[in-house]
Amino acid sequence: MFKKILIANRGEIACRITRTARKLGIATVAVYSDADRAALHVQMADEAYRIGPAEAARSYLDSGAIIEACRQSGAEAVHPGYGFLSENPDFVEAVTAAGLVFIGPSAQAIRAMGLKDAAKVLMEQAGVPVVPGYHGENQEAEFLSTQAEAVGYPVLIKARAGGGGKGMRRVERPEAFAAALASARREAEASFGDGRVLVEKYMAKPRHIEVQVFGDNHGGVVHLFERDCSAQRRHQKVIEEAPAPGMTAEMREAMGTAAVRAAQAISYSGAGTVEFIADVSGGLRADRFFFMEMNTRLQVEHPVTEAITGLDLVEWQLRVAAGEPLPKTQAELSIDGWAFEARLYAENAARDFLPSTGRLARFDVPDGIRVDSGVRAGDEITAFYDPMIAKVITHGKDRAEALGRLSGALSQCRIAGVTTNAGFLGRLCREPHFAAGDVDTGLIEREAATLLPNPLPSARVQALAAIAALGLLDPPGEDDPWQRLRGFRLWGASWQSVFIEQEGQVLEVRVAAGDGRRFDVAVGDVGLSLAIRSGAEGRVLVDFGDRSVEATVVRDGLQITLFAGGESHVFHAEEAAGLQGEDEAGGDVLAAPMPGLVRLVQVAAGATVARGDPLVTMEAMKMELVLTAPRDGTVETVAVAAGDQVSEGAVLLRLVEEEPE
Ligand code: ADP
Ligand code: ADP
Ligand code: MG
Repeated sequence: MFKKILIANRGEIACRITRTARKLGIATVAVYSDADRAALHVQMADEAYRIGPAEAARSYLDSGAIIEACRQSGAEAVHPGYGFLSENPDFVEAVTAAGLVFIGPSAQAIRAMGLKDAAKVLMEQAGVPVVPGYHGENQEAEFLSTQAEAVGYPVLIKARAGGGGKGMRRVERPEAFAAALASARREAEASFGDGRVLVEKYMAKPRHIEVQVFGDNHGGVVHLFERDCSAQRRHQKVIEEAPAPGMTAEMREAMGTAAVRAAQAISYSGAGTVEFIADVSGGLRADRFFFMEMNTRLQVEHPVTEAITGLDLVEWQLRVAAGEPLPKTQAELSIDGWAFEARLYAENAARDFLPSTGRLARFDVPDGIRVDSGVRAGDEITAFYDPMIAKVITHGKDRAEALGRLSGALSQCRIAGVTTNAGFLGRLCREPHFAAGDVDTGLIEREAATLLPNPLPSARVQALAAIAALGLLDPPGEDDPWQRLRGFRLWGASWQSVFIEQEGQVLEVRVAAGDGRRFDVAVGDVGLSLAIRSGAEGRVLVDFGDRSVEATVVRDGLQITLFAGGESHVFHAEEAAGLQGEDEAGGDVLAAPMPGLVRLVQVAAGATVARGDPLVTMEAMKMELVLTAPRDGTVETVAVAAGDQVSEGAVLLRLVEEEPE
């Protein structure tokens, strides 16, 4: 076995490989870019080498720098993880030429599977069923269009060098073919430097089922059963599971045999995945699955296979690379229970999965279940790398148990500072079709209307956010920025007002603090009375009279993240959001809460207004802010007009001074 290995990756997979190496008594060498100097994977390793600036192209993809780090550290072998250089045959050759061991398949095997068209030809020859379609040399648009007709619509245009769902276009009708082809080519050219495509039949009701294979250097090949990765958004996996729901012994046998045959055809060594697409319009059928591609590396979702087989696939990789035979024969392998993996991403599902960057103000994941992660609280999620921040893996005796555990685990994740997809993942777990195991790759898109949007926060949640925004949840510290939000005592002695913004909507909430942590809160027309008991780390128990709710509140700068009922809500408190300055007593003045543009003045001098009436609409920070009347009264003067740029605190209008009664 190796004494020391270098891990040419970052994030969760680098940490995960380090763990197994340590278990086997192997010393570990990490590499890092400037952005990752203090990253968890660096801290975990025995030693670490800088390999370049933040951009992956100049660090994690710099094979020269990585091989140099091997030389300096004395590492004997390189584990590439997934992504980056893991499927780069030139890197494998460079590693081998430097007298090191690549922990993975041969350059030849990677090349054979690297291009989807060539791989399909090879698989046809090996007797593995492939997706019907055209995967030949001719790239003429006219010709491909004729091929699409022959295949039969709908078709899928695919970049032959593709990966990560890129360069793929589904085409419904012949009229749309030419435009789709041009755009797939553009994307493929830009992403992979290769615009060549194949045309495939688009399966009617597709399920993505893949088989984990393993080969050694002595001709041994086994499969470790299947994973179902049909829960996808834009051809990317979201939740994976093993085994596949509804899988029969006959079909498992057929798929396993086909996958082993694929691996044998290229003398495969190490961990690999043979991806199939199954047409399940007539149920799962042994004659209705087709080879899509082979990923010649450890897969992101390998932990579900580990969970159902009780094996450590990284350990197998290390043993095989060190020349040992496969630790088990096919007959010794079996499935125990069911497992799920959910990919936790820093992204906003409600905004077209827009990646989210920022500093992790909080990173709490549940104890007692497997969470593979490469970050901790305080770490920065940058735009340089993949936005995946953790994988949550659960195991149970059957599907229902494992899924229940996943749903529960997701609702216990408390991650603040970036937007995550945890809420979306939890909703997917509970979606009736998914929960019943009735999955296909179109499920998320069909159910998008219920799965993607963040549920609107209830008045209860908004009330709690406002109390937090006013700094009333706990005693303030010395230079607490929240101090500045306090003190806008508007409506008499005890009422305070604060503006909280969520997804561009600004809301004014009024709060009156009473004795013994009791609050009266006005959220729009809704009045609430509540009592709060605070626990450690932002946990609160809120008693609304008719029900008690547990929540966690995380404040970071002016941002409040509130976790309740399996969902998280992010609010921004508006600084100086009171409707008047403190020296402008009496609620006579409407002032700009922040610098911005006056969009609309809804009243003129002399108008009679009631408290809460909209008076002025402003635009600030790309948000619309409707400023309302602080009390009943008459407008004395209007100081601004639509189109005016105003600074923070500027007087917008005055109400006629009230005679003291
Ligand atoms: P899997 O089937 O394991 O999910 P993916 O295609 O989603 O495979 O990719 C796995 C990992 O590799 C992801 O982290 C992804 O960002 C990364 N990845 C995929 N394609 C590329 C590529 N061309 N270059 C760099 N990283 C990639
Ligand atoms: P990538 O290299 O990006 O992973 P794949 O060929 O593995 O590309 O396809 C990615 C996903 O696209 C699959 O998991 C599946 O959801 C969908 N897909 C691919 N081919 C087909 C097809 N012929 N019919 C229907 N869906 C397909
Ligand atoms: Mg794939």
